[in-house]
Amino acid sequence: MEKFSHFISYGRQSIDDEDIQLVIDTLRSPNLTQGPKILEFEQAVANYVGAKYAVAFCNGTAALHGACYATGIGEDDEVITSPITFAASANCVRYVGGTVVFADIDAVTYNIDPTQIRAKITSKTKAIIPVDFTGQPANMDAIMQIAKEHNLVVIEDGAHSFGANYKGRKVGTQAHMTMFSFHPVKPITTAEGGVIVTDNEEYYKKLLRFRSHGIEHTAYADEQGDWYYEMTDLGYNYRMTDLQAALGISQMAKLDLFLQRRRDIATMYTNALKDVEGIQIPQQLEHTQSGWHLYMLQLKSANRKHVFEAMRATNIGVHVHYIPVYWHPYYQQLGYFKGLCPVAEKWYEQALTLPIHPSLTDEEIQFVIRTLIAIVKDNQNREF
Ligand SMILES: *Cc1c(COP(=O)(O)O)cnc(C)c1O
Repeated sequence: MEKFSHFISYGRQSIDDEDIQLVIDTLRSPNLTQGPKILEFEQAVANYVGAKYAVAFCNGTAALHGACYATGIGEDDEVITSPITFAASANCVRYVGGTVVFADIDAVTYNIDPTQIRAKITSKTKAIIPVDFTGQPANMDAIMQIAKEHNLVVIEDGAHSFGANYKGRKVGTQAHMTMFSFHPVKPITTAEGGVIVTDNEEYYKKLLRFRSHGIEHTAYADEQGDWYYEMTDLGYNYRMTDLQAALGISQMAKLDLFLQRRRDIATMYTNALKDVEGIQIPQQLEHTQSGWHLYMLQLKSANRKHVFEAMRATNIGVHVHYIPVYWHPYYQQLGYFKGLCPVAEKWYEQALTLPIHPSLTDEEIQFVIRTLIAIVKDNQNREF
């Protein structure tokens, strides 16, 4: 099969000269960290999604850790999340000593199934971490209703869904706290970076404290003098730098363009693949507009490993997102077993991620489409 001239990665950053200039300007400024860029970036993110507060972190995983801390999750608590996500959505619960409970996914959206959440609630349940997998918002109305009935905190993992819409509103104000990640493959990048947005002032204050060593300027400290501060809790150094925030501010201006390009690419894939035998294209719910962080197929009759390897051999960076979290040895050692979430496991066996990011060219996309159709056809004519 014909090979493309260079490797087409499934996701990557889109950085231009303007982004680079803003980072250079910050390098020449007095503050490399804890300067004015952080607040400016936080406000840009909060304004964009319509939230009151935003707290930037050094990465999305640290931000999730902060949200679990702010929620007050501890050793006796259970937190429900999806098995089809990056491990960080579950790991953050373990950082604060909580127990992760996996609820199976919905076969149409590949997002956590509210019915399965209900089935997993116990007297120990403290929070739910729904994931907007591939950029499609989770079923937030149903999830918030469950949370209300059981007095639970909802931390939305929006690592994939910055800029996505749920019922006409941006993702970011449906849950009590929402995390966005700015890793290079995500909707915008700060190299490493993440944020929690919230409308809750108490969470906001806790997140600020947690991000910076648990240090506060308390009333007592104010009485002592200007130099005085108090460390009231065991926090971390999870701060973002001003260099990263400067890049983030510059990237924010392009987010809508990036999203438009992702949507256009998704439409090209969908139109080309929707009638191909053996391929199930991703389904979008009417009231959601995905951010299209990932474009994921189900291979209904072809051998996934064969298709994956044949695509890679042509320089197409197909991928698989994700291995069910509890299949990882760390979770297996904690007693989770295969078979726990059957819908997720079956889905995983057939899943394939196609390249999608704003810098993909039409030529690359057409090559991916042509090659995939040929490989799937060829695969169906063989026996394994
Ligand atoms: C990327 C990602 C994270 C973690 O974000 P980092 O910024 O890489 O720490 C968490 N959850 C999901 C679903 C992700 O894709």
